[in-house]
Amino acid sequence: MARLVLKFGGTSVADLERLERVARRIKAEWGQGHELAVIVSAMAGQTNYLVNLVRSASALADLREYDVVVSSGEQVTSGLLAIILQRLGVPARSWMGWQLPVRTTVQHGSARVEAIETAELRRRFKEERQVAVLAGFQGLADDGRTTTLGRGGSDTSAVALAAAIEADRCDIYTDVDGIYTSDPRIVAKARKLERITYEEMLEMASLGAKVLQTRSVELAMKHRLCVQVRSSFEDRPGTLVVDEEEIVEQAVVSGIAHSLDEAKVTLTRIPDRPGIAAAIFGPLADAAINIDMIVQNISLDGEITDMTFTVSRGELDRALMVLEKNRDTLRYESLERDDKVAKVSVVGVGMCSHAGVAQKMFTTLAEKGINIQVITTSEIKISVLVAEDYLELALRALHSAYGLDAD
Ligand code: ASP
Ligand code: MG
Repeated sequence: MARLVLKFGGTSVADLERLERVARRIKAEWGQGHELAVIVSAMAGQTNYLVNLVRSASALADLREYDVVVSSGEQVTSGLLAIILQRLGVPARSWMGWQLPVRTTVQHGSARVEAIETAELRRRFKEERQVAVLAGFQGLADDGRTTTLGRGGSDTSAVALAAAIEADRCDIYTDVDGIYTSDPRIVAKARKLERITYEEMLEMASLGAKVLQTRSVELAMKHRLCVQVRSSFEDRPGTLVVDEEEIVEQAVVSGIAHSLDEAKVTLTRIPDRPGIAAAIFGPLADAAINIDMIVQNISLDGEITDMTFTVSRGELDRALMVLEKNRDTLRYESLERDDKVAKVSVVGVGMCSHAGVAQKMFTTLAEKGINIQVITTSEIKISVLVAEDYLELALRALHSAYGLDAD
């Protein structure tokens, strides 16, 4: 007998028919004697619909009221699922975030979970064999009001609850059947991974493999909690996100991730003096614009240099506005923009102990005639920025070069 948290995403609970299928799956697990807490998302499309309603009502909506509206999708699915489970003869009870409660910070719209009270749930598991159906995405802040955890936040609800009830595993049921070595829509030879480390999953999640909310992976890593990503439509094991020690044969490179949400900005002929980077990135930080890659050219004469950095496409115009406003202090000659770029990243915990991983990436791209515009590295990742048109070619070539292709 195990204690499990099962989380079902929006596409898995998109209509009554799918909810019924989910309920039957829960009933089967429950029938095996497991203690179960279930986390549900809003039905597919509902949260987008609610966010748009708020935006249409007011461009500058109060975030406390935003949370009241957008958290309501999960209330509907948790109630419906509890009703269907009861009809199937499974004792089930729904819980809203405020009822447990799931205590969060007061940052409305993107709150963080701080603690979850679980004594009542544990009592009901034991004494009544009850299945808890929790509305994901929601919490309660010290201001006494409902919060939400940011888009995709029900993954984090699930992992936080699993940590709080000391679950044996947290299963994330979704519309893909696991984590792949690359995006299977682009790389036909991509393979499903049996296991991936927390560190790699974090890189993949933040690099655009949008299967899990990044925060949920951070939380799982902190608590060393085993998370499984699996399909709610097929009955096959998915991918386990685990500790490095639990992976017997570690490949040097586990996956090739990519992101199209990239834009490049270059400031040309800026003065090469102490404080120039601070002068550029300070105002951008004040405007809450996230910077990703940064390169500063060496200056041949010690006087003048160029600075290039990347931001997400949605923030490009704002970044340029901030820089234009500071033109007098920054003294750049021109401001160049390019939003037809993509980031390709090779990820693997094995690379910190192997030489030549970067070299293989560079020669592979060179052989295909793909120009690298910017390079950044971390211990377990090498990222390059290339022209968007070359993205697919780059992904496929690298996938083969690192021996990841399915036979
Ligand atoms: N329903 C919320 C969203 O779409 C939370 C979630 O599904 O994870 O962002
Ligand atoms: Mg999601």
